[in-house]
Amino acid sequence: MRVLLVEDDPMIGAAVQAALRDAAYAADWIRNGRTALGTLATQHYDLVLLDLGLPGQDGQDVLAAIRARGNAVPLLVITARDALDERLRGLDGGADDYLLKPFEMAELLARMRAVLRRKGGAAAPMLGNGVVALDPATREAGVAGAAPVQLSNREFALLQALLVRPGAILSRSELEDRIYGWGEEVESNAVEFLIHGLRRKLGSEIIKNVRGVGWMVSKGG
Ligand code: CA
Repeated sequence: MRVLLVEDDPMIGAAVQAALRDAAYAADWIRNGRTALGTLATQHYDLVLLDLGLPGQDGQDVLAAIRARGNAVPLLVITARDALDERLRGLDGGADDYLLKPFEMAELLARMRAVLRRKGGAAAPMLGNGVVALDPATREAGVAGAAPVQLSNREFALLQALLVRPGAILSRSELEDRIYGWGEEVESNAVEFLIHGLRRKLGSEIIKNVRGVGWMVSKGG
């Protein structure tokens, strides 16, 4: 999952980006609203974390501009302002949830999972296609009749990208986009390496290669 963090505070930004990468997100960090809007126009993100107190263009204006374009990306507002009307403006302006500073990383990650689940139309916390089930909170995967296994961060990110839309084929570059943030080196054959690891842990049939196009998980078991 690729996340765009829009935060001007250098300490909070660095801490949140590190926590997101530790939690297997491909996390890009931007410090102002104008750059965020430019980036969102050209790059797919699965979720946006938007600080409201930004220099130049205010976070509320950035939020309004994102929604005015028809971009429905899941969005969580982060704000130091504890005034109720600011939070309500954010929610009414199209934010999916908000978090008040200071916050615990564990709460941020849990709220992100909840927003992604709601926006994905899933009521249950587990992702799955009837063959393999994946728990975004623990990054454990399980197939029927076997104990759940712990995935590496990048194995998890790859399998999650496929399980969000069973049956959809993702190309190498689409998978890399969901696994690696800016500045993270992508080794050649990284995708094959991760898929090899997942098949070894979960069985060779869980991920199908569509020759010359990409990879997918089946729509149902
Ligand atoms: Ca700020």
